[in-house]
Amino acid sequence: MNAAACFLGGWAAGVLLEYLLHWIMHRRSLGFHLHHHREFFHLPPKRVALNTLDPRLDLVFFAGVLAALAPLMFVWTWWLVVLFWAGMLWHVVLVYEACHALMHHDAWLPAFWRESRGYRWWKGCHFEHHFHAPAGNYSVTCPWLDWIFGTYVRPRAAYPPRPHPQRKPAGDADTVPDEPAAANGA
Ligand SMILES: [Zn+2]
Ligand SMILES: [Zn+2]
Repeated sequence: MNAAACFLGGWAAGVLLEYLLHWIMHRRSLGFHLHHHREFFHLPPKRVALNTLDPRLDLVFFAGVLAALAPLMFVWTWWLVVLFWAGMLWHVVLVYEACHALMHHDAWLPAFWRESRGYRWWKGCHFEHHFHAPAGNYSVTCPWLDWIFGTYVRPRAAYPPRPHPQRKPAGDADTVPDEPAAANGA
């Protein structure tokens, strides 16, 4: 198998891993992720974006993934295993983290980009997850995966501006009830 195919295979595995990890974060109500959902309503977008970046957690996690993949080195060439791992790392630590931070803080993007249909849909999928559908739209980078797995929720035309102190997290704090104003604006 050639090196590029191995890296791309790792990248595809990283896209699936992103979906799975986000699903687990909600199924197991992992505190740091629910914290991100709470902050979303109460902190300025730039702060929310910066707070999501945690390179230390990423690196510790991927050292663990490498250790889990290590036995494959006995049946596969070691550098192919490392390339596969590097493809996963590339997606989760760089592509995913950059895309997630970008959609939370995109005021610096040119207006034509921010207002484009494709970008609004892509970002809207994650905002729908934050505003109304914590049990849907688990993939931040590739919402098509949610469509395949049956967890896709179509984004609305618009979302209220944030910080939004009136919107209090309810229950387990990973969702908030709809507001009449938001519903009317949809
Ligand atoms: Zn988010
Ligand atoms: Zn979430």
